[in-house]
Amino acid sequence: MSEYDEAYPHDDGDTGPVPVLAVVGRPNVGKSTLVNRIIGRREAVVEDRPGVTRDRVSYDATWNGRAFTVVDTGGWIPDAEGLALNIAQQAEVAVSLADAVLFVVDATVGITDDDEAVVKILRKSKKPVILAANKTDNMALEIEAYSLWNLGLGEPFPISAAHGRGTGDMLDAVLAVLPEPPPQREGKEIGGPRRIAIVGRPNVGKSSLLNKLAGETRVVVDNAAGTTVDPVDELIEFGGREWRFIDTAGIRKRVKEASGHEYYASLRTATAIERAEVAVLVLDAEQSIAEQDVRIIQMVREMGKALVIAFNKWDLVDEERRYYLDREIERELVQVQWAPRINLTARTGWHIDRLVPALDRALEGWETRISTGTFNGFLGRLVQEHPHPVRGGKQPRILFGSQVSVAHPTFKLFTTGKLDAGYERFIERRLREEFGFVGTPIEIKVQPRE
Ligand code: GDP
Ligand code: GDP
Repeated sequence: MSEYDEAYPHDDGDTGPVPVLAVVGRPNVGKSTLVNRIIGRREAVVEDRPGVTRDRVSYDATWNGRAFTVVDTGGWIPDAEGLALNIAQQAEVAVSLADAVLFVVDATVGITDDDEAVVKILRKSKKPVILAANKTDNMALEIEAYSLWNLGLGEPFPISAAHGRGTGDMLDAVLAVLPEPPPQREGKEIGGPRRIAIVGRPNVGKSSLLNKLAGETRVVVDNAAGTTVDPVDELIEFGGREWRFIDTAGIRKRVKEASGHEYYASLRTATAIERAEVAVLVLDAEQSIAEQDVRIIQMVREMGKALVIAFNKWDLVDEERRYYLDREIERELVQVQWAPRINLTARTGWHIDRLVPALDRALEGWETRISTGTFNGFLGRLVQEHPHPVRGGKQPRILFGSQVSVAHPTFKLFTTGKLDAGYERFIERRLREEFGFVGTPIEIKVQPRE
C-alpha cells in the first residue's frame, strides 16, 4: 500500500454475501425512518455516484459486528405517477427475496385491513418475521404495542424509529433469526463463489439459461437456515467452479411480476444487481433492444457492477436480423461498449461455454487496480498530448490522481478547477485504451482545489 492509499482508504467491495432483511409495511408507518436508523444514516453521507437519481433499495448494515443487507421495499419510486402501492404484493416480493422480514406497523394507529393482508402472506411464507410496533414514543404507548401479540407473529417490539427507542432489542431479535453469513472473503483466490445476477425482460430466456448452466447435476441449494421455502440464491457449478446465482427464486418462478406491476420486476432486478458482483443481461436477439433493457444497463452502471451482455435465441437470428441488430447495438449500447458480448442459444446450450471466459474478463476488469505511480504517469502523458481546453481564460490543471477503489474502479483527480464533462469522458476512454477495464463501469471523481 502506498502512502496515498493509506491517506485515502478505499472500499475494496469484496465482502462476502450477507443475509437479507426486507422491511415491509404500509406507507407512513415509518419504514424509511427505521431503515435510516438501522444503517446509521451512513449511506446518506456516502458521495453519490454521478447520475444516480433513484433512491436505493438495499443498504449495507451491521449490528453487533454482523453484516446484513436491508431492503426497503416501499422506498423505491420508479416514476412520478407510479403507484398506488399494493402492499400485499410488496410483501410477497419481500418475503421471496429476503431471509427474514421486518414487519413495521404504526402502534398509534393499530392494525388496519392492509396490515392484516400482509400478516396472511407473512404467515404463509414461513420466513422468520420480526414485528416492530413503531411510533411507540413513550411508555404509555407500550400498552398499545403489546396488544399486537394477537397478530400471531410473536412478540411485538415496541420501538420508536424516530428516537431510537427499543431498536437495539429489535435488532438483536433480527440477528437471532438471520442465517449466519458465510465466512468473509479474505483474498480473491480463496474467496467464496462469485455472485451473479441474471437479469433481463420476461421471456428472454433467463430461466432456460439458468437451467442449462445448472445442467443435469443437481443444483446445490443454499437455503436460509431452518426454512422450507424457495432459496433466494443458488450455488451452481459450471466451468469447473461454483457460482452463486442471486435470487434464482425470482428467475425460476417468474412470480407474479411478469403480469403484474412492472415496479416489482424492477425492484427485484435492482435488488439482485445490488447484491451481485457481476450482472448477466440476457437479451432476446430476435427482438429489438428495448427501453427496459437500457434501464437495466443504467442500473448496473449506477451500482458499479461488472456486466456481461448475452444475446440469447441466436438460433432465430438470420442475416437480416443480424444487420439490424448491429445497428441497434451501435445505437443503444454505446454507453456499455466495454461490456463483453456473447451470442448464445440457451435452449440447446450452443456457445454457453463462452459465458465463463466473459464473466472472468468482466470480473478481472472490475477488480483492476492501477498503482498511483502508473496512474500519474498516464495522466502526465495524457495532459501533455491533449491538455484541457481553455475556458473563460482559465485552464484547469490536473495536479494529482489516484485510484481510490476497485470493484468498481474509481479514480480521484485533484485539479485546479472543474473539468469539462467531455474531458472526463476523454480520460475514461484513454484509461480503457491503456488498461483494459473490460466489463466494468469506471468512475472519475474530480476534486477541484478551493
Ligand atoms: P414510510 O412511508 O413507512 O417509509 O414512513 P416514513 O419513515 O417516511 O415516516 C412517516 C412519518 O412518520 C414521518 O413523518 C416520520 O417522521 C414519522 N415517524 C417515523 N417514525 C416515527 C416514530 O418513531 N415516532 C413518531 N412519532 N413518528 C415517527
Ligand atoms: P425468462 O422469462 O427470461 O426466464 O425466459 P424463459 O427461459 O422462460 O424462456 C422464454 C421462452 O423462450 C421459452 O419458451 C423458451 O423455451 C424460449 N427460449 C429460451 N431460450 C431460447 C433459445 O435459445 N432459442 C429459442 N428459440 N427459444 C428460447
